Amino acid sequence: MPVLFIGHGSPMNVILRNRFTDSLKRAGRELPRPKAIMVVSAHWLTEGTHVTCTEKTPTIHDFYGFPEELYELDYPCPGSPQFARHVAESVKKIKVRCSDNWGLDHASWSILKHIYPDADIPVFEMSLDYSFNEWHPKPMRYHYGLAAELAGLRTRGVLIIGSGNIVHNLGLIDFRNIDAEPFAWAVRFDEKVRDALVSGDHEGLMNYQDMDATAPLAVPTPDHYLPMIYAIALQEKGEPLTFIHEGFQHGSVSMRCFRIG
Ligand code: ZN
Repeated sequence: MPVLFIGHGSPMNVILRNRFTDSLKRAGRELPRPKAIMVVSAHWLTEGTHVTCTEKTPTIHDFYGFPEELYELDYPCPGSPQFARHVAESVKKIKVRCSDNWGLDHASWSILKHIYPDADIPVFEMSLDYSFNEWHPKPMRYHYGLAAELAGLRTRGVLIIGSGNIVHNLGLIDFRNIDAEPFAWAVRFDEKVRDALVSGDHEGLMNYQDMDATAPLAVPTPDHYLPMIYAIALQEKGEPLTFIHEGFQHGSVSMRCFRIG
């Protein structure tokens, strides 16, 4: 199976029709049908790494102040305890734990609504270990190594999706205008990342703080950048990477999405 990185942006995209949602719909039509989908979510930050092992994965409305319509939507897909348990058992470097108190947050369901609108494929989530050791988060290399251990899922028919945003600065966001002109620093950092993705410079992508002076503005916290590291870690030597979507929303959020394989 291919691997995807999706820049999910605002939950509003679930009810909107725009260039981004059209790109997701097109990507869905071009993808083979997976046996299951695993989403590495920027919105499930935990101590250690967890996967959802339940038969049912309730839709979580993990956002505030949006139109009522959004809270009434759901994505009633089945879970995939079989594949989730397989992940928990097969990752050797660290202990991946099974969780029964999560479901699908909007990093999953708001994009899957467009990619696989029928909600008939089992989905499970993987969390991001966001624990700190004396103020230091787990290094990018740690996540990269963990993700590489998930490669076997691809041959078993599981579609792995990293869902975050390459540039994600909520402090400087233009909430009212989804089509706001992007900040120059946001465009610059997004282009640096694009170039590194094209040249397969995984080292550069892991050391993003040294990539450009705009990095602290573009990635003020690593939560939305990290799912992209999981995606590239699964890229085999010489495997093609194609961009599904490029662009910005709200001025400070890059909606860049890509497919590997
Ligand atoms: Zn998000």
